Amino acid sequence: MSDRDERHRRAMQTLKSHVDDKVAAATERRGQLLVFTGNGKGKTTAAWGTVTRALGYGYRVGVVQFIKGQWECGERARLEEDPNLEVAIMATGFTWETQNREADTEACRAVWAEAERMLADSEVYLTVLDEITYMLKFGYLDIATVKRALENRPAEQTVIITGRNAHRELTAMADTVTEMQEVRHAFNAGLEARRGIDY
Ligand code: ATP
Ligand code: MG
Repeated sequence: MSDRDERHRRAMQTLKSHVDDKVAAATERRGQLLVFTGNGKGKTTAAWGTVTRALGYGYRVGVVQFIKGQWECGERARLEEDPNLEVAIMATGFTWETQNREADTEACRAVWAEAERMLADSEVYLTVLDEITYMLKFGYLDIATVKRALENRPAEQTVIITGRNAHRELTAMADTVTEMQEVRHAFNAGLEARRGIDY
């Protein structure tokens, strides 16, 4: 064995023992709270990826879309056939399109009621609150209400929250927080949103 191979072997051995230690230490078993935030692309995509993962095992999943940003959504169209998936969508369009605070608040409250039902249902394995961060930011929903529903959810239920500028109380209580960092986005170079890629 060359010097380089021997060094590699030893480095891998050390790495394996670190990984094994961490795996052995991770013994707590319960549902988790994940926050996908930041300005980079990928938050909603990652949430739907996890939805697909959970549905793949036959678990029940609820998705609540708080901003109907794109009318179309390829993942929803494909996965909605799955009887284990329930999707609730806020009834209005872009908040910057409706420009009506009262109507937006009402639409938000209505879809939040669906979210609360899912968050209280012990049959639901995973709930996604897509773009809920904006509801808190605009004041359509208050943080205490959301926190209470999250804290009181069944212990086995996992929740994913997506959206930019996540409220610090949400990131503080989350088990996993991922900040998508924008290095570059095609849109800023004039490329239009692409079907099947961006929505
Ligand atoms: P995606 O749905 O692609 O995972 P996202 O959830 O991280 O994106 P949002 O802010 O919810 O980000 O984006 C909504 C739409 O805007 C999507 O079509 C997405 O591809 C696009 N988008 C995401 N990030 C950016 C960005 N940094 N600049 C411009 N457009 C973006
Ligand atoms: Mg998104």
